[in-house]
Order: sequence, then structure tokens, then C-alpha cells
Amino acid sequence: MANRYARHDLIPGWNQQHLADATVVIVGMGALGNEVARILAMSGVGNLILCDPDRIEESNLSRTILFRQSDISRLKVEAAAAALVELNPQLTIEQRPLPLVHGVGLGELRDASLVLSCLDSRSARLQLTGRCQLVRAPYIDGGTHPWGGEVRPYLDPDGPCYGCGLSAEERSVADVPWSCLDTRQENPTGAAIPSSALVGTWMGMIAVRFLMGMSCPSGILKIDGCRGTTVVIQQTRDSNCPLHMSIDSVTRIGVGSMDTMLKLRNALPKLAVPLAWEPVQQGVECFYCGFAENRWGLPSVEMCPQCQKPLRPRTTLELDQVPEDLILSMLGIPPGEILGVRTQDGLKWFELDY
Ligand SMILES: [Zn+2]
Ligand SMILES: [Zn+2]
Repeated sequence: MANRYARHDLIPGWNQQHLADATVVIVGMGALGNEVARILAMSGVGNLILCDPDRIEESNLSRTILFRQSDISRLKVEAAAAALVELNPQLTIEQRPLPLVHGVGLGELRDASLVLSCLDSRSARLQLTGRCQLVRAPYIDGGTHPWGGEVRPYLDPDGPCYGCGLSAEERSVADVPWSCLDTRQENPTGAAIPSSALVGTWMGMIAVRFLMGMSCPSGILKIDGCRGTTVVIQQTRDSNCPLHMSIDSVTRIGVGSMDTMLKLRNALPKLAVPLAWEPVQQGVECFYCGFAENRWGLPSVEMCPQCQKPLRPRTTLELDQVPEDLILSMLGIPPGEILGVRTQDGLKWFELDY
């Protein structure tokens, strides 16, 4: 350990132990996620949670240092974890090959040292922002342009958030953090490794300083590859921004996401209705022939067994009708999730184990 980090020890103020003790959540393992993850791994950040539902495509390979030709069609988090452990065998890595709402629980976001948003759509960024705000988690958002990009450090939970910088119309894709969002990538845009590397390096720079308790830039970094500049733009907190709600007190119930609905139900007050953050499917129905069936799980596109036309999922946020033997993760509930629960005394928060 001493040898690997010998050059770090010569930097005034560097604290290798702080990095070793840190847990960083990286959401999105595309070009930016790759750059940031390798910087954190090589710096000696001890624990990473990688979240991305996608598999590697050939078009990723022009921008992703951790992926190889032979990784095509592998899960991004799996290939990244393998490459990162080769870079630094002292790392602990958790893989979450799921969309972020299903991949990382609110309790995990709260307990992480830092969250890094390496996403490629506004709706996904807003969703992650809303979840970080709910538990007051510090996070850094990165985004690239063809010749540069932006880094937005939101390290003070009482300061501005990503939503504060947007107009009401831009935010309207997600006015509440639990709304049903389409977080699929928007139309693909041009991207090249110099921009991802620049933006990812700035994110890594700020992350490493933050984790060691050093001062960090407080505005948005605008990185311009044509002019050769990085300019810091101050941002203010918008009191009309709808994303500032936070969860106050939570009750831990000793139930995990691999436990059954029965165990959850028994841990909650009588007649309580647990709520999902995203709609879950309770049944499917055929618009054409009238076929209908209860089928709990994540919404999916399936074909009618009678007429082979696409079935329509019937969804709900209320989990009081879920069968007793269903495992919570089958409903997309991640480890450490904090669930809103409607009780006779109003909405209460209950936290799952992780
Ligand atoms: Zn805000
Ligand atoms: Zn049918």
C-alpha cells in the first residue's frame, strides 16, 4: 500500500486513509463513468457502487477506457468492475446492473461519501437529483458537449441543485422526484474521448479533493475546448425549485430487498400502505381480446397468450395488494431503499437494510 501511493504522500494535505474509507456511487458507466471510475480507482478510493443497466455496444469503445472489443454485449458494470480491480486490487466494487431507481436505495445514497452523476439525459439527471436531495447526499453532475462540457458540483445540500439551473419548462419532465420518467437516452449526440476525458478528469479532481476535506469549486465549471478555457459560473438556489424536499426521520425495520412482502407487511403498522417510487405492474390486460391476468413485477412488454398482440400493463404505486410471497426486489425495490408508507398517522418513512 505504501509503495503504490508513495507519490500521493508527497502532496501536502493528501489523506490516503480518507480515500480508502470512502464509498462513492457512480450512476452511469458510459464514457464519463469510465473516466471518473478509473481516476477514483487509481487514487485509492476504497469502495465503489456502479449503477448502469446497459450492455456494451461497439459504438461505446471509442470512449471507454475500461472496455475491450471482447467485452461487447457484456454488462457495463461487470466489465468495468473487472477492469477496475485490475487497476487497483484493493478496491471493493458493487455492481448494480439496473436503472438508478431500482439499482441504488435512498439509504445507500445517504450513506455514501459522494454520488457521481455520469448520465446522458436530462430526465435521468433530474431523477438522480431528486433522490440525492431527498436524503441530502452530496453529488457532482457531469455532462459533455462535442468540444467540452460542464461539471456541476452540488456538494452543499442547502445550496443550489441541478434543478435550480433549469427553467420551469425544462424541469417539467419531472416536477416531483418520484414521477414516472422516461429515462431512456434522448437522440444520440456526437461525443469524443477528449471531451469525456476533460469533464471526467474535472469530476475526479473535485471528487478526490472533496473526499479528503479540501476546498472545492462551488459553481458550474464550463469547459470549452475551442477556447481552451474552464470558466466557473456561480449558481444560486431557486426557492421555486421543486426538488428540495427531503426525508426527515426514518424508521429501520430489519427487512431487506431480498425479503418477502409478508415480512415487510409484518414490520409495518396495521393497515399501512407502502408506496413504490416508480409504478409497478400489478397485472396485464389485452385491449384486443379482453384477456386479463394479475402479474406483479416491473412493467414490461409481453404478448397476449390468446391473440399474440402486445399486452397493456396495469400499474400502481400502492403495494398493499402485492402477494405475500413476492420478493421485494422483483418490484424493483433496491437494497437500502426508503419507502414512503401511508399510515393512519399520515405518510411515514421506513428504511430497508442493505
Ligand atoms: Zn433546486
Ligand atoms: Zn389478446
